[in-house]
Amino acid sequence: MRIFHLSAECYPVAKVGGLADVVGALPKYQNLLGMQAAVVMPYYNRKFVQENEFDVVFKAATLLGTRRLYFEILKEKTDKLGFELYLVKIPGLIDREEVYQYPDETDQFIAFQIAFLDWISYSMQSPDIIHCHDHHSGLVPFLLQNSKLYTRLANTPTVLTIHNGQYHGWFGWDKLYYLPEIDVWKGGLLEWGTGINPLAAAVRCCWRYTTVSPSYLNELSVSSNGLELLFQMERWKGIGILNGIDTDVWDPQKDPMIPDKFSIKQITKGKQANKQALCKRFGLSPDKPLISFIGRLVGEKGADLLPVAMEESFNEHPGQFNFLLLGAGEKDVESELIQLRDFYPDQCAVFIGYDEALAHLVYAGSDFLLMPSRVEPCGLNQLYALRYGTMPMVRSTGGLKDTVIDFGDEGGYGIRYNHASVEDICGAVTRALMLYGNTKHLQQLQKLMMALDFSWDRSAKEYIDLYKSLNPTI
Ligand code: ADP
Repeated sequence: MRIFHLSAECYPVAKVGGLADVVGALPKYQNLLGMQAAVVMPYYNRKFVQENEFDVVFKAATLLGTRRLYFEILKEKTDKLGFELYLVKIPGLIDREEVYQYPDETDQFIAFQIAFLDWISYSMQSPDIIHCHDHHSGLVPFLLQNSKLYTRLANTPTVLTIHNGQYHGWFGWDKLYYLPEIDVWKGGLLEWGTGINPLAAAVRCCWRYTTVSPSYLNELSVSSNGLELLFQMERWKGIGILNGIDTDVWDPQKDPMIPDKFSIKQITKGKQANKQALCKRFGLSPDKPLISFIGRLVGEKGADLLPVAMEESFNEHPGQFNFLLLGAGEKDVESELIQLRDFYPDQCAVFIGYDEALAHLVYAGSDFLLMPSRVEPCGLNQLYALRYGTMPMVRSTGGLKDTVIDFGDEGGYGIRYNHASVEDICGAVTRALMLYGNTKHLQQLQKLMMALDFSWDRSAKEYIDLYKSLNPTI
């Protein structure tokens, strides 16, 4: 079965968040199950691209409206990631360093999709499934069915996975002429609100859509940044498949990014050694409980609540715990966090930026990982934390609800609270500190966490079952 995954991100080529982790792992696990899964993504001028060798497998010119674009498809030579990796390169448009936030982002992602379709169309490829991830490839299911250029591929089954339903890739009707010739009366499929909404078009035109956790499937019908009605109408097409984690990359027994490797048997010693390394780096005492946060500093993650919640908790439990934050995002949140650190230098460490290796050390060396998310489609941080014996403190929403059971409930191993609010975060901190005081109980729970299995094996198979249901010839 030949599957093309289309994505803006893929670890380790280019990562901004969980999308990259999923697209960097799922195809690998599908291939282990006998599939022929490949990833197609835009070309980014980054370390992975600079350090690896590529063949140009296709070259052509295409049109973005009236603009002529020359593009190349590059293939990584060795398939070292466990799947074929293809990059779409368009000099001057898709050959930059950053993944998002260029002023011509809309042009970039439309051109990426057109180049992909031109490539498979002109090179006479017939994939069994095209699997789109988020709105960046959301026009593909529409174009396959409604553009005369791609009639040969019109019956190719398409799957859309929604990693984040808050972002839609919206653009105005003035850019309709960017799309290859379409049946004009089908233009309504592109529309939501007053413009073209690629995520809405994808939900309407894909054969099935999936969400990255079962709970998130239901939540989209009540909270999806304006697409609620659409998700209610198209609910029959949706399936929730929980993300897995790449247990090769996230393995405390052989993780090259942490100073002390450990298995479940040496958990106490291993965690303590990593905690010492982490605390030393940030000038914190390793003898106090360490609560950490990793993530984008945006409203979805509840990051704006942290400065006040931590200040209140520091005051409520003076000198009793440390807080460490690794993240970047909204400038006012960053600045409040830096002020918090300056005010509580012995208890609080803040690293503004993106640092993959540091993230591994934080998962390994912390006692607790705080996730007060307002929206969390799946959340991978809590799964990494569990694998490294770090207790997640999560708001009950989306994938957090599906993966973390409160330690007060039967079989539980985490801390859960209902609201993304300062009060609930402070309550969770108090519970964490009480639990930390009961060393034996915490150690039992750490063992339980590390023994949990959130690997891709099960979820990769669920996707394959879905593909088979759409394409019985395979
Ligand atoms: P989202 O995709 O919404 O940002 P996820 O929980 O699905 O959230 O995935 C976040 C991923 O990004 C995890 O692998 C996490 O470790 C990583 N990450 C987020 N922020 C940073 C950062 N500042 N430095 C390093 N890794 C980060």
